[in-house]
Amino acid sequence: MNVSFYGHVRQYHNMKAEIDANIAEVLESGNYVMGPVLKRFEKELAAYHGMKHAIGVGNGTDALWLTFMALGIGPGDECITTPNTFFATAEAIWVANATAVFVDSDPKTACIDPACIEAAITPRTKAIVPVHLYGQCADMKAIRKIADKHGLFVIEDNAQGIAASGDGFKIGELSDAVCTSFIIQKNLGTFGDGGAVVTNNDQIDKEVRRLRNHGSEKRSCHSMGFNSRLDDLHAGVLSAKLKHIDEWSDLRRKWAARYSAGLKDARSFTLPHEAAGYRHVYHLYVIDMKKPEHRDELLGFLNGCGIDAKCHYPIAIHQQEGYPWGKQARIAGPIPNSERNAATCVSLPMFPELTAEEVDHVIAKVVEWDRTK
Ligand SMILES: *Cc1c(COP(=O)(O)O)cnc(C)c1O
Repeated sequence: MNVSFYGHVRQYHNMKAEIDANIAEVLESGNYVMGPVLKRFEKELAAYHGMKHAIGVGNGTDALWLTFMALGIGPGDECITTPNTFFATAEAIWVANATAVFVDSDPKTACIDPACIEAAITPRTKAIVPVHLYGQCADMKAIRKIADKHGLFVIEDNAQGIAASGDGFKIGELSDAVCTSFIIQKNLGTFGDGGAVVTNNDQIDKEVRRLRNHGSEKRSCHSMGFNSRLDDLHAGVLSAKLKHIDEWSDLRRKWAARYSAGLKDARSFTLPHEAAGYRHVYHLYVIDMKKPEHRDELLGFLNGCGIDAKCHYPIAIHQQEGYPWGKQARIAGPIPNSERNAATCVSLPMFPELTAEEVDHVIAKVVEWDRTK
């Protein structure tokens, strides 16, 4: 039995009528850019978060740097983030011409460790950029406290955590803005690229709207801006999919629980850690090999029997070629946990449309390999 890593086409087949209807609506309307379907989706997305504004943009990376620019974060300014994330988190800081400052991650959750943040703050620090890695919220209460004490912005990179929540906090509640990505492999994904900024801050809303559309607030009037919009076709697809996001997140949690029950006696790795009171939405189900040398061995074994397992992310950002990119990046303190995570992480297939047979097959194969260790 082959098990793929993603279920995009299955998802489309399960809801073909809804998606096709929304695509037809856009095609028949004649409005494809900044049209009524985008407006409607922005309202739905803001309402889903219980927040005032959502602004559709070209992708998740743009959502981040447009927000930094809207907040006036630029040359000489520092943003504290984690090197244990997809490259785009740091790239967006760099696009805004600011400096990325990396601090270590928590050894259990793999999200930014708030205990490392304060020592990294300098007079140039403007923002903290936590990432809700693998679908589990970072410790936003601790991060908000530090931000308040030092007068910093908090911008959530929520490319992986839509529908997640923390112990008594919702996404967006403890930050200035939430940036999300709708590329197909994310929990809420369109058939291509897309992103959004969700915020209660009227100024961020106004600035991102202006910046994403050639600096224009009024037809034919422009100040400097960019072209980074969410097309109505994508907004139509996302509008149909948003109605299913809670049900899909429950399914992800169900498959994660099934994996964790089936793999609980493993000798060679530890299971994903769910922080108490948090709703982890398992964008990725990531196990942590006890010995780095086992990582490629397990991956090779699984891939060899038709199970698509991957690594997220095998190279920490400060270990990427070219670091520190024109000196716009630095490490604050040692980063042992993030470096270890990069060497030991293995992601098992995870998507809502998995079947119990597929999950059990993956479990059986992983257990078969683990018994040889
Ligand atoms: C996917 C992702 C992004 C970037 O999103 P794009 O839409 O691909 O630009 C940023 N941060 C994280 C953590 C991501 O997973």
